[in-house]
Amino acid sequence: MTFQNCIGGRWVPSRSGKLFDNRNPADRDDLIGRFQESTPEDAADAVAAARRAYESWRLVPAPRRAEILFRAAQLIAERKEDFARDMTREMGKVLEETRGDVQEAIDMTYFMAGEGRRLYGQTVPSELPSKFAMSIRQPIGVCSVITPWNFPMAIPSWKIAPALVCGNTVVFKPATLTPLSAVNFVKVLEEAGVPPGVVNLVTGGADVGTLLSTHPDVSVVSFTGSTAVGRTVSQHAAPTFKKVHLEMGGKNVIIVMDDAQLELAVEGCLWGGFGTTGQRCTAASRVVVHERLYEAFVDALVRRAGALRVGSGLDPSVQMGPSVSEAQLATVVTYVEIGRQEGATLLTGGSRLTAGAYARGFFHEPTVFGDVRPEMRIAQEEIFGPVVAVMRCASLEEAVTIGNGVTYGLSASIYTRDVNRAFTAMRDLYTGIFYVNAPTIGAEVHLPFGGTKSTGNGHREAGTAALDVFSEWKSIYVDFSGRLQRAQIDTPEL
Ligand code: NAD
Repeated sequence: MTFQNCIGGRWVPSRSGKLFDNRNPADRDDLIGRFQESTPEDAADAVAAARRAYESWRLVPAPRRAEILFRAAQLIAERKEDFARDMTREMGKVLEETRGDVQEAIDMTYFMAGEGRRLYGQTVPSELPSKFAMSIRQPIGVCSVITPWNFPMAIPSWKIAPALVCGNTVVFKPATLTPLSAVNFVKVLEEAGVPPGVVNLVTGGADVGTLLSTHPDVSVVSFTGSTAVGRTVSQHAAPTFKKVHLEMGGKNVIIVMDDAQLELAVEGCLWGGFGTTGQRCTAASRVVVHERLYEAFVDALVRRAGALRVGSGLDPSVQMGPSVSEAQLATVVTYVEIGRQEGATLLTGGSRLTAGAYARGFFHEPTVFGDVRPEMRIAQEEIFGPVVAVMRCASLEEAVTIGNGVTYGLSASIYTRDVNRAFTAMRDLYTGIFYVNAPTIGAEVHLPFGGTKSTGNGHREAGTAALDVFSEWKSIYVDFSGRLQRAQIDTPEL
């Protein structure tokens, strides 16, 4: 089946006349569909359509815009199972997780629909008599939404739902590896009543993304992806002073103290490290364990990781799917080799899986390295695969130093039964997200999501924080005194 772009409410082919294949990473013989290999000209058409639609959409009352989002959330909920299956087929994570991804899109769309009746501003007393002062959120214009493949419906919803409720229009460019989930999401929005041109979809690669970060009629760029590409997007958007929201890489840490519940910590590290085949921005790719618990912890983690069932995510008995692509798998293989050369101890895994049906996909064993030192590349760089680096610490202070000793700052967690240690770590780990007695993954849609340092540029998505990305404040003063009143100069008589 061939899928098209959506521009100005019409489903149209790219001007390039070219298509790219979308294949199942668990079985390369499974062709899911062909999608438009779009050009910068296609993207410019979409920006023009979004710009035109903005003039009427910005005037639709926010509660009415929200009604459309409520309908969209309902439609996604009705199709959850189909969307989850499509997603597992195109990006590989197990069905239980793709159901969660779709659920997150439902939750976010409902949450932002609720904001349609809030979008709170402030009313404040004026310092002058007969003068009224308030602030309101105003929409900004056309928003470029550029997304990765690891959360193919959740991440687009984190951006598109708040953009719409605030009164903006959107040009959406999904990752080339997961265009079907993007089509599913945009079709639902269309069916729910989003007017033509308000959400446009253009599939394609870096040149489409470049147009969407440079075009003068784009006012906001909301990007989630790697730190390297985020830096380029930021540079491209700077000359035209776009508002740029970046969510980028991570190298997240779980700290396991000697008073932790061992089984709970192991369970958390297993889920945090190997969930989504380690391809989460919040994946727990580093574990720092107190030396008194180290041997027992590592024994249990290695046993559990080695027993994970790897295979096609469509098989309900499978616990870990493939890497998303040949290139991603090659990165995993390269880092495993780097870990070996750096002198870390390979405790389990370490190899590509190629026997039988594995040969048709991009499978790798769940891999645990022990005796890792904080300065090693496998403890510093984002691998985005099923590889966990375990380090020792002698104190909470040392664990926090190791935790903070990377360029990223997305998520961190601690397992401890000591409330003082938990609060100390909560205060001292410089990340955007923190967990106690839970792994580094598991964010809910109504709190801010994002990271510090090379993970983000100070914005947050999700929660009401997302509204700050997609709206601008306007402060309004209404003087009904009938005379000139000068702020800071005229002091009313008491
Ligand atoms: P990527 O950076 O390769 O691609 C992200 C998106 O940018 C894709 O749509 C891609 O086509 C597009 N793109 C590529 N070059 C571009 C350019 N020059 N200009 C504009 N757009 C361009 O990332 P990926 O491989 O799709 O995703 C994995 C990365 O995403 C990891 O680093 C992961 O940590 C990160 N991620 C971060 C978060 C977060 O919230 N912090 C969430 C999920 C994923």
